Amino acid sequence: MANACIGCGVCCASYRIAFHWSETTACESGTVPLELTETLRLHEVAMKGTSSNTPRCIALAGTPGIDAVCAIHGRHPSCCRAVAMGSDQCVRARLRHGLPPLDQAMIVAAYADPNPPGAPLPDPLAMLVTAATASADVHARP
Ligand code: SF4
Ligand code: SF4
Repeated sequence: MANACIGCGVCCASYRIAFHWSETTACESGTVPLELTETLRLHEVAMKGTSSNTPRCIALAGTPGIDAVCAIHGRHPSCCRAVAMGSDQCVRARLRHGLPPLDQAMIVAAYADPNPPGAPLPDPLAMLVTAATASADVHARP
């Protein structure tokens, strides 16, 4: 069973994504492109697009719940990695976007996947291909 996060991304379109400025490229060790962030407070920034009532991270490409992909995967902030599949944040984001919570079997299977949540994911193109394949599998079922 595929990692349910692949193609989902609805948590990237549900919350304000805020983190310490030192994770941005303004800091020598930072990875998040500074130009994709906005200042929130003295030491805190947020991903652009996530501070509105209808948040959507500027780095999120594709359609949430279908073929979404993080365009800066591998350079994204630590708070993104902290959202665990099946967590309260995950459940609330999925319900907000009309998706059912993941059942326990999906979560167990996902963590047994070669690319479990929290592990490095394939490059964005591979993720889109995987999502498209999974979608085709769903439609092929009788
Ligand atoms: S953590 Fe949950 S809401 Fe976020 S991408 Fe994964 S399955 Fe979707
Ligand atoms: S940086 Fe990437 S993982 Fe984090 S909210 Fe934006 S699109 Fe999602």
